Amino acid sequence: MDTVTRPRILVVGAGFAGVECVRRLERRLSPREARITLVTPFSYQLYLPLLPQVASGVLTPQSIALSLRRSSRYRTRIIPGGAVGVDLKAKVCVVRTITDQIVDEPYDYIVLAPGSITRTFDIPGLTEHAFGMKTLAEAAYIRDHVISQLDLADASQDPAERASRLQFVVVGGGYAGTETAACLQRLTHAAVERYPRLDPGLIKWHLIDIAPKLMPELGEKLGRSAQQILTRRGVEISLGVSIAKAGAEEVTFTDGRVVPTRTLIWTAGVVASPLIATLGADTVRGRLAVTSEMRLPGYDGVFALGDSAAVPDLAKGQEGAVCPPTAQHAGRQGRHVAENLIATLRNQPLRPYHHRDLGLVVDLGGTDAVSKPLGVELRGLPAQAVARGYHWSALRTNVAKARVGVSWILNAMAGDDFVRTGFQARKPARLKDFEYTDAYLTAEQVRERVESAGRAR
Ligand SMILES: Cc1cc2nc3c(=O)[nH]c(=O)nc-3n(C[C@H](O)[C@H](O)[C@H](O)COP(=O)(O)OP(=O)(O)OC[C@H]3O[C@@H](n4cnc5c(N)ncnc54)[C@H](O)[C@@H]3O)c2cc1C
Repeated sequence: MDTVTRPRILVVGAGFAGVECVRRLERRLSPREARITLVTPFSYQLYLPLLPQVASGVLTPQSIALSLRRSSRYRTRIIPGGAVGVDLKAKVCVVRTITDQIVDEPYDYIVLAPGSITRTFDIPGLTEHAFGMKTLAEAAYIRDHVISQLDLADASQDPAERASRLQFVVVGGGYAGTETAACLQRLTHAAVERYPRLDPGLIKWHLIDIAPKLMPELGEKLGRSAQQILTRRGVEISLGVSIAKAGAEEVTFTDGRVVPTRTLIWTAGVVASPLIATLGADTVRGRLAVTSEMRLPGYDGVFALGDSAAVPDLAKGQEGAVCPPTAQHAGRQGRHVAENLIATLRNQPLRPYHHRDLGLVVDLGGTDAVSKPLGVELRGLPAQAVARGYHWSALRTNVAKARVGVSWILNAMAGDDFVRTGFQARKPARLKDFEYTDAYLTAEQVRERVESAGRAR
């Protein structure tokens, strides 16, 4: 096949799924066999499971941003932007570049891996006043915000203002919310020692969830252990409770309590990227409905995976079960889609995706952790060793491993300086600003655009 006619493979999203797919394609296909293009707004792959450690300052933001240009062996062409629509029939992806230009990118094969965004509900004030925990900018922003609350409370003479600045609310008792509350509570607990005018007793963290248990996927005993650890550290856990209303200086819980606070962190689940809804294809709870080979039925050359796709979970052996939205699945699905795409190019049979969950690790900061690797329940130091060992080995590049390893050692030995950078202090911090949820075109807009571009040619 010559370089003019080689098939064009377009991968959307440089997360666990997209990057693993691209790297496998680069390794297994010769440059003459296909042209690979990656659409991504950022020039890094974000290692999301360690985001709470960036928010709490244990890790620097750079340590979990894995460069897409690290090696000269990486030959994929990168388009810096986000896919805002795809015409699946015409095989054109519409991309908004980081300079807001709209460009069309034709493809022969497309791999959709745009991940997920924070799931929100129609709660008054939520999207205006809550922070999420899904992007690097959010994590860095939250760290600055939390430290600035201590600075401002320290400077204030008004007891009401102090009280509202020193209470913090995290919604979502899954692993993301629990780790976020745990890590940030450790940050404020350690930082308050540097503010002699502040009464440590005024600092209060709330972790709330509408479900009756924290992290039900950990099982009864480990979930309870996590709850005990957090309660011992002074985090007030309220289960069966959510938010009724959010304001700039207070939050109302559904049980009627009004908590004065300027920090509401919302981690109550994720939904597939808004790109998926623009495709007009079948979905399962918002995720693209794909086959076990991760192909989109009814469309030629379309694969989808990771958080944005409902991939059948064959290991569960239950009708209708789909893989949970985890990095563990997304990375493996990325490599698997690459193999299936190569098989398609070479007219070989495709293989269904099958992976049995390896378990869950939950880092609560310091020596506190709960983990369930391969069904074995661990607490404390052994759980922490497993949690950190797992994340460390899952980091894709050696330089990221070195950065994270050194930061952990440095933080354990020297603690934190509680520096507030102020870089983004005057930027509005709404969920949609961080997750660009309003950047997408409708299916009709995509079709019209692609048709008129076709007429103009
Ligand atoms: C705080 C937190 C902790 C977590 N902890 C764990 C854990 O311990 N273990 C675990 O297994 N999982 C964990 N997860 C879940 C895990 O991170 C996700 O399941 C995983 O990242 C999904 O991979 P993905 O490739 O589908 O999406 P992502 O990794 O989110 O990647 C999607 C990529 O697509 C890009 N993108 C988005 N929209 C577009 C677009 N329109 N065009 C182009 N690019 C786009 C994004 O910028 C991103 O780079 C955690 C998640 C969070 C938020």
